Amino acid sequence: MARIPESGLKFKEEEPGEILELGEGAEFLAAGPVSCDLYAQVVDETLILRGTVSAPLEARCARCTQIFSTTVADSGFLRDFPGIQGTEEVDVTGEIREAVLLSLPHFPLCDENCKGLCAQCGKNLNSGPCGCRNTETGGSWGALNNLKL
Ligand SMILES: [Zn+2]
Ligand SMILES: [Zn+2]
Repeated sequence: MARIPESGLKFKEEEPGEILELGEGAEFLAAGPVSCDLYAQVVDETLILRGTVSAPLEARCARCTQIFSTTVADSGFLRDFPGIQGTEEVDVTGEIREAVLLSLPHFPLCDENCKGLCAQCGKNLNSGPCGCRNTETGGSWGALNNLKL
């Protein structure tokens, strides 16, 4: 990070997706670099960073288990680092990683209307109805329910 003038400094930075340390088998995987769009200010030897941190990710849908692309962002990123002397380098990688991880959805969905998997045959219902009998939408009325009006 460059030296920060008194008026503050706006800067954009990209950190490699690896900083998120999302390993094999994780529910989320980094799909590109983490973008940081930040404003830095030093007030009373405290570095204040605020802005937006966002990361493109691949996530596994909690309903249909398909992998989908998404972007998580923390637009309220705000951290302070006391005891800054002005010229020293500050490593904010850990804070950026934390901001992204805290923004991960607990229940990722490929689509709000994801239909999920059939509880009986496991078919992905987003790609069409399966042949299973379902008491709620079964029989000839099922076809009517699927009509788009
Ligand atoms: Zn889904
Ligand atoms: Zn089924």
